[in-house]
Amino acid sequence: MKPVIALVGRPNVGKSTLFNRITKSRDAIVADFAGLTRDRHYGDARHNGRELIVVDTGGFEPEKPTGIVAMMAAQTKAAVAEADAVIFVVDARNGVAGQDHDIARYLRGANKRVLLCVNKAEGLSESPLLAEFHELGMGEPHPVSAAHGQGIRSLLDAALADF
Ligand code: GDP
Ligand code: MG
Repeated sequence: MKPVIALVGRPNVGKSTLFNRITKSRDAIVADFAGLTRDRHYGDARHNGRELIVVDTGGFEPEKPTGIVAMMAAQTKAAVAEADAVIFVVDARNGVAGQDHDIARYLRGANKRVLLCVNKAEGLSESPLLAEFHELGMGEPHPVSAAHGQGIRSLLDAALADF
């Protein structure tokens, strides 16, 4: 069985960019528009000779009222439910956002293995900025630059460690 890894996070943190990087495809829609990718999007990937399935999500609806139930679209919740592990993507440039806490709370209840991916971390891998992400209670932050292809290997090593 190929492990299924879902990419989850608020809009614009770089999920689709990371999806494209991991799957080496251009399939997912990447844009400067928050939440453009509306549906789940699957891609095949290979890491250390291991095949995996990556799921991009874009199902957060920013214009709806806050609160995790309203905010998290059914597509994203379904992607988490069917995943073997979740890569929770946050934005190093923005710091911890309120929505990140909402998502963290949801993921804790989902009982999945979660990797905290701090994206847009190019040039910040030694930065104390990364330390604040510990407050999400999702374990050690993994600094990544999806756009520059940095930190992806060690993120995937951690994501696949149990499979
Ligand atoms: P999504 O909404 O979470 O799927 O985010 P996207 O993948 O569409 O990316 C949102 C924006 O962040 C785009 O302008 C990307 O070019 C930019 N972005 C993605 N990854 C990185 C990164 O590693 N570093 C920087 N500086 N920008 C990034
Ligand atoms: Mg997207």
